[in-house]
Amino acid sequence: MKIIDVITGEKPSLSFEVFPPKTEDKYENVVAAARRIAGLSPDYMSVTYGAGGGTSEYTANIAQSLGELGVNSMAHLTCVSSTREHVRQQLEGLQQRGIENILALRGDIPEDLDPSRMDFHYAYELIQEIRDFGDFCIGGACYPEGHPDSENGIKDLEYLKVKAECGCEFFTTQMFFDNNILYNFLYRMLRSGVDVPVVAGIMPVTNKKQIQRIMSISGTALPQRFIRIVDRYGDKPEAMKQAGIAYATEQIIDLYANGINAVHVYSMNNFDVAQKIQENLSEIIK
Ligand code: FAD
Repeated sequence: MKIIDVITGEKPSLSFEVFPPKTEDKYENVVAAARRIAGLSPDYMSVTYGAGGGTSEYTANIAQSLGELGVNSMAHLTCVSSTREHVRQQLEGLQQRGIENILALRGDIPEDLDPSRMDFHYAYELIQEIRDFGDFCIGGACYPEGHPDSENGIKDLEYLKVKAECGCEFFTTQMFFDNNILYNFLYRMLRSGVDVPVVAGIMPVTNKKQIQRIMSISGTALPQRFIRIVDRYGDKPEAMKQAGIAYATEQIIDLYANGINAVHVYSMNNFDVAQKIQENLSEIIK
C-alpha cells in the first residue's frame, strides 16, 4: 500500500523506523529486531539507507522482508554519493522486491566528494528521477528548525516547494522536542504554498549518549522541560528510558490532539521502545 493512502486516512497513523547494520555479522540481529517491531502491526515501517557498500542491499532486503510480513514498508534512498546508473539499479531492485514507497533524500555530502563529478546535488533531482522511473509513492525530508546547511528558513521553504512540485507526495520531519516548533513550521509551510501532508518524526530519547549525538548532528533545540529530565535521570538508565518514552508519548498525544494525524517514531531497532509507545497509545490510535 502507498504511504500517502495510509497517512491521509481517517485513523491516526503510527509508524516505526529501523536502520540496517553496517556489517554483515549484525544483519540477522537487525532483521530479528525489525521483525519483532513488525509484529506490533504498525501502519508502516521505514528502513534507513547508508550510502555505499553492502548496506544499500540491506535496506532493500529488510524492507522486502517487512513487506512479506504484511507490513507496509518504505525504503530510504540517498543520491549525493551515487551515480545516476546506481540510482536506477536501486530503483529496479526496489521495484522487483515489491517495495512501493521511497523516502528520497540527498544524504550528507562527504568531505572528499568532487562537486563536478556528482550526478545529483539535491534531493529534488532524485525525486524527479524516481518520478520518471514511475509508480513509487515518494516522500522527502523536512526540517522544522531548518537544515544545518540552510541559507535561511525562507529559502528552505522555497526548496521544499520545489520538492513537492517535482513529485514528493509527503514530508517526514526531522526530530523535534517542542511541538510548537512544528506547529509554527506547518503554518509557514502553508503560507508558502506547500500543502502536502507532513508526518511528524518523534525520537524517544532513552539514554544520555543519544542526546549528545542529537545535539552534535542536527542542532535540534532541547526545551528546558526536557533538559531537566536528562539532568535528573541521565545517569539512571532505566529511569531515563521510562522518562524518555513518557516524554515522546506525551508529544505524540499532543500532536494527534492538534490534528497531526501521522507520527513516525525513530525507534532505532529498539523493540521495547516501539512496544511501550504503541501500548501507551493503544486507545488513541484505534
Ligand atoms: P535537500 O532537500 O536536497 O536539502 C539539503 C540542503 O540543500 C538544505 O539546506 C536545502 O535548503 C538546500 N537545498 C535544497 N534544494 C536546493 C536547491 N534547489 N538549491 C539550493 N539549495 C537547495 N540520511 C541518510 O544518509 N540516510 C537516511 O536514511 C536518512 N533518512 C532521513 C530521514 C529523515 C526524515 C530526515 C529528516 C533526514 C534523513 N537523512 C538520512 C539525513 C539527510 O540525508 C540529510 O539531512 C541531508 O543533509 C539532506 O537531505 P535532504 O533530502 O533533506 O536534502
